[in-house]
Amino acid sequence: MKIRVFLAVSACKLTIKILRRIGRGGTAIPGKIALKICPELLSFLAKDVKCVIVTGTNGKTTTSRIIEEIYLRNDASYFANRSGANLINGITSIFIENSTLTGKPRKENAIIECDEAASKEVCRLINPSVVLVTNVFRDQLDRYGEVSGTLQNILIGLKNSPKATICLNADCSLTASIAGQVPNKLIFYGIDVPIYKDPIDEVSDAPYCIKCKHEYEYTYRTFGHLGGFYCPDCGYKRPETEVSVTDILSADLSSTKVRARVFGDDELITINLPGGYNIYNAVGALAVSEAVGFSRRSAIEAIASFSCGFGRMEEFDLGGHSARIILVKNPAGCNQVINYLTGLSEKTVFVCCLNDNSADGKDVSWIWDVNFEKLTDMLDLIPEIYVSGIRAADMALRLKYAGIDEKKLNIFDDYDELIKAMTDQPLPVIIMPTYTAMMELRAKMSSAFGGKDFWE
Ligand SMILES: [Zn+2]
Repeated sequence: MKIRVFLAVSACKLTIKILRRIGRGGTAIPGKIALKICPELLSFLAKDVKCVIVTGTNGKTTTSRIIEEIYLRNDASYFANRSGANLINGITSIFIENSTLTGKPRKENAIIECDEAASKEVCRLINPSVVLVTNVFRDQLDRYGEVSGTLQNILIGLKNSPKATICLNADCSLTASIAGQVPNKLIFYGIDVPIYKDPIDEVSDAPYCIKCKHEYEYTYRTFGHLGGFYCPDCGYKRPETEVSVTDILSADLSSTKVRARVFGDDELITINLPGGYNIYNAVGALAVSEAVGFSRRSAIEAIASFSCGFGRMEEFDLGGHSARIILVKNPAGCNQVINYLTGLSEKTVFVCCLNDNSADGKDVSWIWDVNFEKLTDMLDLIPEIYVSGIRAADMALRLKYAGIDEKKLNIFDDYDELIKAMTDQPLPVIIMPTYTAMMELRAKMSSAFGGKDFWE
């Protein structure tokens, strides 16, 4: 075993070095090579590392970064995976990077963002101390099939995490259903009140009771299928929460102030991120912090000072006016961006970039489930919409059907033209790209306006 570990670790470290030297930050290949040499390598490398695993459909990256901020504030020794490296190969690479040649860990803790499908195997190998499940939404149709399949994968992972405290989003009827199926210690978190005054009607990804198939009713909804759900037939309902937002005090385009109840104590929390979905990300991170045992003060301070990167509301200066990037990967995420736009107080250019590479989802029909119609109420604040990406024509068609005047739509065939147009006009810009569109656009914007490569 020891020789195998040594061989696998050295091969991986060498590959990382070579890839970096030739200017590639790819993180999957080195791990893949290592796992070929030693298939159980990850469990060997993780056995002395205290791991937090963050999984679920939406919010993994932002939540992981907030958790990271909490570790930083506590001077805890940790490492974390970033960006797209959330499958088993990428996760193995990051463990190797943070271990010696004989496979001893260099850091005590790890914060691992993990793809839902990969979580079933990753949890088994890592045996985490804490697992957070953010939510389960319908993702790109052609990748994992239905939400029940996603939930099943997560559940298998949790059943293979015997020592973990599990933090679950109580407002997600799918996620909350995990409760009765594992013996672990649980911490439920959620939001007790509606977030938006006038939320957009959305297609629910989970309209029927997971236990008896009867239609759910709600005492309130936050967005999508999240909220105070209950089944009038079998009585399954949103569980009691340990960490909960009880009131939204104020919300603007850069932050949200909330009142929260955390294990019985009232707390005021400023979330240094806009958007209703980030309230979930913040209280999810707070639940993890409670599970790990950090001081509550340090977690609340981290949430108040956290600033985002890597596509989740990342900001660029275009020379006097700003561009914010908000990554989207499914209808629920897209509807959240549109909810966010309803809070605009100044004129803004909205940019949609739609790609259909495999990481985006090959089937782009999901854009028809997004409530773009809502944009027609905001056109005095959104004088122009720019459209780009491989499937720009489909996107433009969708917007036309939503009732957007063709004269307001500008289609750009390539990102250089798009960036030039965004820079030449004076208004702030909000860009909503799919994953590979974001990677490409972000690289060009970083070299034009400054910014770090994502693996740094
Ligand atoms: Zn039921």
